[in-house]
Amino acid sequence: MTNEQVWQAVLGEIEISLSRANFITWFKDTFICSFDDGRVVICVPNAFVKKWLEEKYHKDILSALENVTKQEIKEIIYKIELKKASTASFQIESPAEEKEEVIETKSTNTPPSKKAGCNRFGLNPRYVFENFIVGKGNELAHAACRAVANNLGKSYNPLFIYGGVGLGKTHLLQAIGNEVAKKTDKILYTTSEKFTNNYIQAVQTGKAKAFKNLYRNVDLLLVDDVQFMGGKDGTQEEFFHTFNELQQNDKQIIITSDRPPKSIPAIEKRLISRFEAGMVADVGKPDIETKIAILENKAREKNYPLDREILAYIAEHVQNNIRELEGALTKVIVTHQLKNTTPELKSVKEILSDLVSNIQLKSLTPKEIIEATAKFYDISCKDLIGSSRKKELVWPRQIAIFLIREELNTSYPTIGNELGGRDHTTAMHAYNKINNEIKENGNEKIKQEVESIKQLFNNGY
Ligand code: ADP
Ligand code: MG
Repeated sequence: MTNEQVWQAVLGEIEISLSRANFITWFKDTFICSFDDGRVVICVPNAFVKKWLEEKYHKDILSALENVTKQEIKEIIYKIELKKASTASFQIESPAEEKEEVIETKSTNTPPSKKAGCNRFGLNPRYVFENFIVGKGNELAHAACRAVANNLGKSYNPLFIYGGVGLGKTHLLQAIGNEVAKKTDKILYTTSEKFTNNYIQAVQTGKAKAFKNLYRNVDLLLVDDVQFMGGKDGTQEEFFHTFNELQQNDKQIIITSDRPPKSIPAIEKRLISRFEAGMVADVGKPDIETKIAILENKAREKNYPLDREILAYIAEHVQNNIRELEGALTKVIVTHQLKNTTPELKSVKEILSDLVSNIQLKSLTPKEIIEATAKFYDISCKDLIGSSRKKELVWPRQIAIFLIREELNTSYPTIGNELGGRDHTTAMHAYNKINNEIKENGNEKIKQEVESIKQLFNNGY
């Protein structure tokens, strides 16, 4: 095993337990520069990362190293050293949302600064329709995206796609970009965070006009994760005008978010109504067949076909989202490659045992549900369990009660206690009300809110 293979396998293990953003922040550009007699030197790009790895991730790194190498690790040293270009054979691919878009490069004549793995529009070339598996949960969103890509500005404008983490929103959004890039250059992909930062920067440096020109002169504007625009009033104002200008000229706008327009906290009403004016499509969790098909496809892409029995096992046991599904598949493949063995159900079960038992053992508490709910509705936990009867607090309170009962089967008196010492009949009433809305009335909006909150606590947000 080369150092690089070891490190790749270690990262594969670590990646599964971290959010993508954290993983990228702390493990990008790290590598093993020496491994000798149980002593490992891990190179990191700067002092900041060094400190974090030492303080926060040392244990994880140690246990992953021991797992992968099957030997005792006596010492890990973290050293600041940059990777030489020639040895950079393993790089973490930044998630699409972190990739730079073209704002600066377009206004000058210098060639666009290409980020690793990205094309000139800041789009990941892997995110195309051809490798997007369509199934229950994403059919509508997929069809809408196809329609829009084929008929820019004319079918649905805007197209608003929402759904939980890791379910394919960015993939779909960029697939449209990649498809349209075959016909026009006037494409801009951005995240709402990038849009915000660029806007603030443009204003501060007296380049607001250039900013406006750039965003208002495209055929296709793709805005990922618009929920982060909540609360940023100046940016919303600017975005509102950009939006109007583009829409009036039949220029296509596509937006993604982790929740429906109305549920985005602190967003202006006029923007909500703009978002809802075109087509709103959700992506939900995939069913088991879709998960198997996705795994099959990914395994084929990696040139490592696996038996259906094995794929089905992975699909059944990795519950939350497609990103985790991919992580588990990578772990299975890399481990077998390193050991040079043929995958069998038994070995796969072993490899995924941590992951699977983690999921089952991770015992959720009412407090975590309350926190996730408060976070989702952008209120404080104190207000959520407090005594105010304001509508914007009563609703999250009822949702939290519903979720605690539904997920943990907690008794009503205990739920009442958790929610600031309320009577058990209050808890019961709240549960029945929400349950009714979802199960009897089939209220999709509430169902989606509940699903989004579940994503938050299941992913440990
Ligand atoms: P989101 O933006 O909703 O958080 P992403 O678009 O980043 O999710 O998707 C997470 C990962 O799962 C990506 O690697 C993506 O390619 C993959 N993925 C999601 N949905 C599908 C699908 N239907 N078919 C194939 N791959 C998918
Ligand atoms: Mg995304």
